Amino acid sequence: MIIKNVRILGGEPQDIRIEDGVITEIGQLGGEGIDGQGLIALPGLVDLHTHLREPGREDAETVQTGTQSAARGGYTAVHAMANTMPVADTAGVVEQVWRLGREFGHCDVQPVGAVTVGLEGKQLAELGAMADSAAQVRVFSDDGRCVDDAVLMRRALEYVKAFDGVVAQHAQEPRLTGGAQMNEGVISGRLGLAGWPAVAEEAIIARDCLLAAHVGSRLHVCHVSTAGSVEIIRWAKSKGWNVTAEVTPHHLLLTDDLVETSPNGSYNPIYKVNPPLRTAADVEALRGALADGTIDVVATDHAPHPVEDKETEWAAAAMGMVGLETALSVVQEAMVDTGLLDWAGVAERMSITPARIGRLTGHGQAIEVGAPANITLYDPSVRTEVDPSAFASKSRNTPYEGMTLPGRVVATFLRGKPTVLEGKLA
Ligand SMILES: [Zn+2]
Repeated sequence: MIIKNVRILGGEPQDIRIEDGVITEIGQLGGEGIDGQGLIALPGLVDLHTHLREPGREDAETVQTGTQSAARGGYTAVHAMANTMPVADTAGVVEQVWRLGREFGHCDVQPVGAVTVGLEGKQLAELGAMADSAAQVRVFSDDGRCVDDAVLMRRALEYVKAFDGVVAQHAQEPRLTGGAQMNEGVISGRLGLAGWPAVAEEAIIARDCLLAAHVGSRLHVCHVSTAGSVEIIRWAKSKGWNVTAEVTPHHLLLTDDLVETSPNGSYNPIYKVNPPLRTAADVEALRGALADGTIDVVATDHAPHPVEDKETEWAAAAMGMVGLETALSVVQEAMVDTGLLDWAGVAERMSITPARIGRLTGHGQAIEVGAPANITLYDPSVRTEVDPSAFASKSRNTPYEGMTLPGRVVATFLRGKPTVLEGKLA
């Protein structure tokens, strides 16, 4: 199979030959093939932070629909978060998720293991058994909840060193966010919603950077949302500490004033998310940090919820947004069309580095001869209105409905096999 006239990372048009799932030739090749005219080729995207909801909440998403959603977004691998029911805190459950991925996945599914039993923050889960399981877990997270006990966090960081693992922290000091509903600031005050202060995130990140340095381990900070968090991570990196960080597409584009003034009306729970949408100054800091490498990767925090959990009054609504099918378009809007990143930079932050942080083999490799043919073909020249009814995800809780965003994933190849062609599931 040959992909014709495609611009690898936005470079000059070339042809890519794929045989037996591997890239075997790149250049001006003869013969017929898939027309890549006008398209950019990126290495298949890798998400470090996806909620697939299976087992337990198959009404929101399944491994099948979640990975279909991922494929439509250009992803060839996702890390499946552990806050399922039951929680992925044993070798048995992570192997179950891994097997579901092998059987029903439209991309590779790499399970994340819980840090503590039942995400309860009281007792370390079987980290070693999950690492040794068929799923070979390397990323551990209680995401959705913070490992707020400093002693447990220290022990987890020490423990994962034995198998080159990483602890991915959902940084939220629970004592500072009791009942919190949205970013603490002018708008929360005006709307009368309990505020979620930036310091609740920043205090945990600072503590965890210090702990990771103290025990010589690897920390990954989930969904960084404030300018202060960026400063702390920049400081930790300047010390040479082993700290990486992610930002979500929605925190790169959306701000807390939408809760008050969105065209969809005020108090619309579509904008309710954890961590909350912050201010324009935070968005600017996050964009700058992603551009200069202080924040390493974009991760979606794809968080599907059924209509009944989302279309309710603000206080009762679930927190979270779907994100896999819009991530690349949002990154183009926030980072590429603003001149902050080129396509090579996007490939680093959405494929190469996330695979490296997750120690995921077979993904996140440059498009070159000998690499697995995990490739995303993307058309950056179109602009379309986001239509949630077209999503492959089982859930529709997107904040971008009706917005016009740039770009479209035209095709996704997983080891040479198309999972998406002409924008549709293959
Ligand atoms: Zn989280």
